[in-house]
Amino acid sequence: MSKYLDDFKLIIRECDYSNTYKMAWSKAIVELSGKYVNDNSSTITIKISDIAEKMFKYYWDQTIYFNLFQSAPNQPPVILQHVRKIIDLYQDYKKDYKPVVFNKVDDEIKTRFKSEFDKAIKESVRNIKDNVGPFFLNYKKEKFSFYVFDKKLDYITFNQCDLKELYQNQQDLFDLINYRWSLMLEDYNSSPRIGKKVRIMDEQKIRRPKALTFFDKFLDYENEEHVCFICGKKIPSEELSRDHVIPWSYMYSDDLWNLVYVHKGCNSSKSNATPTIDEINKLKERNLKLQSELHEVWQDAFGSKNAKILQEFDYAIEHDFVDKFYLGCRGC
Ligand SMILES: [Zn+2]
Repeated sequence: MSKYLDDFKLIIRECDYSNTYKMAWSKAIVELSGKYVNDNSSTITIKISDIAEKMFKYYWDQTIYFNLFQSAPNQPPVILQHVRKIIDLYQDYKKDYKPVVFNKVDDEIKTRFKSEFDKAIKESVRNIKDNVGPFFLNYKKEKFSFYVFDKKLDYITFNQCDLKELYQNQQDLFDLINYRWSLMLEDYNSSPRIGKKVRIMDEQKIRRPKALTFFDKFLDYENEEHVCFICGKKIPSEELSRDHVIPWSYMYSDDLWNLVYVHKGCNSSKSNATPTIDEINKLKERNLKLQSELHEVWQDAFGSKNAKILQEFDYAIEHDFVDKFYLGCRGC
């Protein structure tokens, strides 16, 4: 392995924990390296606005899906502030609060919210020139020359062979960056499964292991009539939907102990809001009732099939998952 690559990894591994800019910056460079792999000029320039746009994308995806903090909450990085603003604009315009990856909506955002987006990138460029570009080249007393940075210029310059090396090691570098990024996020976020949340965004498709309707056959034992958890009215079958009481964006998991029937309307108006203490108490009560119903019928209804579901459900009740995760998600 070359010294260049070793040093590049050293910065990622050793950088300080004040915010995640260096992670987003280095990931953007590594991702952009692919664009120039067939360019045979001896030096390659990368526009800082292109880097800022990639950083914007990473923050967009982590924010809209999981609302992850990228620093101590009182000092969100400038790019993240813009990301949040544009997510709000976009969702209000769409009247739809379902998360969506940036790659799917970037063209729409760049046209519909052109002035806001251009401003976001312009201010982000200024901010990362001040706060990350030069600092990524320093570690303790050592100085590195991964690229040439000049504050007066709107691009950074690489030797072509160095950039090629980053590209050839792209997957390893992504793994290292994601790992370090996850560790940092654990400092600022209490939500579970952070490593998975960071990694899943690279795959650009959030897979769900099961459809939520899978849980109906269990939920029905306690709520055969399909009474809405939120408004308390009976739900006609065409309006039946399943909701996570503690938001999915926080849990990133579908679990019986956290799922209830709601009206489609009651569900979408609630979006990712933190549940109230009444809802939490109601959920705990529901879980105890459901637990005793399930234990009564399980052998006849399911036998050894799906045994894991009941074990997990018992475990969650025994270990106060509702209270534990509620405590965490209220902080977000
Ligand atoms: Zn309802």
